Amino acid sequence: MNEKHTHGDGSSATKRIKKAGRHVSQSEGLIFEKSVAGKRGIELPPLDVPAVDPAKALGAEFARAGVEGFPEVSEIEVIRHFTRLSTWNYAIDLGMYPLGSCTMKYNPRVNEFVARLEGLATEHPLQPDEVSQGCLRIIHDLQKCLLEITGMDAASLEPVAGAQGELTGLLLIRAYLESKGDARKKVLIPDSAHGTNPASVVIAGYEVQNIKSNERGQIDIAHFREFVTGDVAALMITNPSTLGVYEENIAEIAEILHSRGALLYMDGANMNALAGVTRPGDFGVDVMHLNLHKTFSTPHGGGGPGAGPVMIKKILEPFLPVPIVTEANGRYALDFNRPQSIGRVRAYCGNFGVLLRALAYTLAYGPVIRQATEDAVLNANYIRKHLEDVFDLPYNLPSMHEVVFSDARQKKHGVNTMDIAKRLIDYGFHPYTTAFPLIVPGALMIEPTESESREECDLFIDAMRSIAAEAETNPELVKTAPHSTRVGRLDEVAAARRPVLRWQPKQNLDAQKHLGPHEKTLVVPTA
Ligand SMILES: *Cc1c(COP(=O)(O)O)cnc(C)c1O
Repeated sequence: MNEKHTHGDGSSATKRIKKAGRHVSQSEGLIFEKSVAGKRGIELPPLDVPAVDPAKALGAEFARAGVEGFPEVSEIEVIRHFTRLSTWNYAIDLGMYPLGSCTMKYNPRVNEFVARLEGLATEHPLQPDEVSQGCLRIIHDLQKCLLEITGMDAASLEPVAGAQGELTGLLLIRAYLESKGDARKKVLIPDSAHGTNPASVVIAGYEVQNIKSNERGQIDIAHFREFVTGDVAALMITNPSTLGVYEENIAEIAEILHSRGALLYMDGANMNALAGVTRPGDFGVDVMHLNLHKTFSTPHGGGGPGAGPVMIKKILEPFLPVPIVTEANGRYALDFNRPQSIGRVRAYCGNFGVLLRALAYTLAYGPVIRQATEDAVLNANYIRKHLEDVFDLPYNLPSMHEVVFSDARQKKHGVNTMDIAKRLIDYGFHPYTTAFPLIVPGALMIEPTESESREECDLFIDAMRSIAAEAETNPELVKTAPHSTRVGRLDEVAAARRPVLRWQPKQNLDAQKHLGPHEKTLVVPTA
């Protein structure tokens, strides 16, 4: 803190240590608390050119004398502060990250090496095509690989998230149907779809019509025919679904749609269960998106950059976003001259760094991408088989990339999916996805991915079985977990109702004083 402290006698030193815990501990304070007036992180040599008045050079409105509340700290304090904070993170590089639906697979280091190469990392997106041939080729080559893997005809790598790929795909459907003078009104969505699907449909200007899955997590074909009326533009299906189950009748579903002038959209974010085994283009899909930041291993989470390419059949090609990367006689170019295009969906060509990593991954795997898929499926089934006698399995079908249990058995002891997930932290694992998908009340959604060895899967299974036993013998222990972390369970309601959206130095300092290492909440009221 700011005030000078004297060492005093041994007992006040002990008190201080008790309060702070170990010297390097999980109780790192805020960097603002370390601030001491006059401390500097850098020292610049004296000017050897005439000084410039910033107010004159920039204009008075852009020049400021200081930044209020900015911490004054030395370089090593900054380094240590952020290094310590970084050790609080759970990461795929630390251990298994079984967050269902998110596909937290390992990102091979070679991808990072390639993405940092000079000439790639340093290229400017506004360079003319003639000096961007390498980058354009990378985009073009990745497109070719993805078309081969999905069996589709054309692609745009512009969208920067799965959800943006969804919106782009739906806008393509709309543009196509409008070009035929038949825009239609509705998009059908099964209840096992990902939550972003209905949101994208509404933003694209369509109405959502929900379809109930049958007890096997499948579309009921007999009922489905009745749903496909003349005002249905498309079915938007997540396949494999959020239950980790493959839609068995997908080819027939495509035929029914096509016979009535509607299209089939497949949310392909779970392509890690299909790549190298089957191709959506071959079973009737007209438009789909991929999540490169999931299936193709590029790092994701925390709102970082992603890539959600859309892959389409020929009929939708005229409407693709601009620009298109073209190739003729070994020369690559960006084509903006596309009169029927839906326009741009993103600046430049999307998140180039993500595309680059995805190409490195795809080329490294090549034809053995099938092995990655089979390992991912094997791991999910291995976990299902070794947990199904202790956790309820509402849809007991072979798993694809993930398996979804429910907390029905543990509920009898007052323990729910959130409690189990929090307890998993004490066992050193990142929690699985809780309470999603919505069609499984109290869901435990587990996706190990192919990155995990049998040993790691076994450790996870042991942890889950141990927690299942605790739920019966000592439910209180599970309900109050985690016990091993810097803070206990956060008050999520308060966090949602009274969010701290802005840094307020004075108030936060006051509030922080009351926080011990196991405080219930870190939420600080706003002014
Ligand atoms: C992750 C996911 C999405 C959304 O992708 P974002 O990149 O987070 O927008 C959509 N559908 C499915 C099935 C997903 O798993």
